[in-house]
Amino acid sequence: MKLLRLCSILAAAPLAAQSNGAPVEAVATITPRDIMRRVSIIADDSMMGRDTPSRGLELTAEYVASEFRRAGLRPEGDSGGYIQRFGLSRWVMDTAGSAVTFTARGSHAIARLGIDARYIDGPIPEGPIRGEVVLLSGASAAGDLTDRIILLVADFSGPIRATLTQQVLQLAATGAKAVIVLSNRDSAALAEALRVAAAPRFTRDSARGTDKGAPILAVHDRAVAGVLAAAGIDPARLRASARPERRLVRGLAVEIRLVKKVLAHVRAPNAVGVLPGTDPALDHEYLAYSAHIDHIGITPGQPDSINNGADDNASGVAGLLELVEAFSVSGARPRRSLLFLAPSAEEHGLLGSAHFTEHPTVPIGSIVADINMDLIGRNWPDSVIAVGVERSDRGETLNKVVRKHPELRMTPIADRWPEERIFYRSDHYNFARRGVPVLFFTSGTHPDYHRPTDQPDRINGEKESRLLRLLFYVGADIANRDSRPQWHPESYRQIVDRR
Ligand SMILES: [Zn+2]
Repeated sequence: MKLLRLCSILAAAPLAAQSNGAPVEAVATITPRDIMRRVSIIADDSMMGRDTPSRGLELTAEYVASEFRRAGLRPEGDSGGYIQRFGLSRWVMDTAGSAVTFTARGSHAIARLGIDARYIDGPIPEGPIRGEVVLLSGASAAGDLTDRIILLVADFSGPIRATLTQQVLQLAATGAKAVIVLSNRDSAALAEALRVAAAPRFTRDSARGTDKGAPILAVHDRAVAGVLAAAGIDPARLRASARPERRLVRGLAVEIRLVKKVLAHVRAPNAVGVLPGTDPALDHEYLAYSAHIDHIGITPGQPDSINNGADDNASGVAGLLELVEAFSVSGARPRRSLLFLAPSAEEHGLLGSAHFTEHPTVPIGSIVADINMDLIGRNWPDSVIAVGVERSDRGETLNKVVRKHPELRMTPIADRWPEERIFYRSDHYNFARRGVPVLFFTSGTHPDYHRPTDQPDRINGEKESRLLRLLFYVGADIANRDSRPQWHPESYRQIVDRR
């Protein structure tokens, strides 16, 4: 699952194919032993953490492609193969050329990126950004912020307000020119935030149009305290006050200059294969299963520096391959075709799935749903977080399948951490944005998340096998039923990008 940067069916009946006993034989191929074997291959130290790009990532893509080939899937990558390639540029903020300048009543201060300020997210405009400043503190209502620069006074002296991330992202989508989070982090937390911000970022060469929204930055009090005082702003008082505030600040000028420095252009793989459907009337429609193959590579400076990513996301890729094997059992193929996608560069911002969904090798409108798996091998043995269930009629599908298979002892539970924004943090989001209904399954994060200790021996293969059998039945139901999954209209309006 992608790091959050800011804070650190059975409608009608089943189905001819299910009446002959094949699904039982098919799910029997999904075993704890197979899962553990696959996880051990993908999360082996020799894969060196599968960063995008890396030799380990290429080896993993090759392994997935060879398993697709062994199962006889139809290649859906470039030039008759299973690999779809896409270009990325790796870049950092040019700290020498970037700065945030505050001016008020003859007082002047420059917050340098990498020292007192950091770029967090959002589009980087060509020229400088200037505008009137709206000061917000606490969970203040936004109002009309079009063309304004928002200065949001945040308090990091205690536990961070749970709604802060959500608030900042919403503010960035209001039509504002920029969002500046005014920070009072202690020096250790500031150093860590600056370290994370300095890591190279990736942008897809094939990205269409420009990012929506405004750039988001953080500026530390210490750089601008004098100017803020001259402008009549007292951050300490605002943080201490229980009452949210919002006002236009007269006499304070802010200028933001952001300059990117491109380090390299690289190429990365997605693996794609199709198991053709059995019904000539429906085989031009696809149910997608997806699980990202990349991870975060090496974190130097510790005895074990390899982030194996056994749960994130060797567990999901092992699941994808187990589902390929199960559906390939004679008699288990559903009426619709199945599309198996193993994207990369997920950890760099869901870039492989963004490329695939913008350059799909089958028409995007023919993909009836995506079932995405990311971190599915840990935590509670009898439940799984199912994200997206409330957004379309696949929630009902899931519940019916669960009721029908009590032997799996697997209960879908709601997303317990809405502030973690899980819906936006794995590859299914790119399908959803392009109008494809999604279901996302994850067993959630844990203390080993994005650490070298996310290792194969901590995966619960038995639990994962029951979850995968459930996902087999859910997919079989969606791919066999007469009608396509439907969005709930309100979710469609919120999620689907209608550019
Ligand atoms: Zn991750």
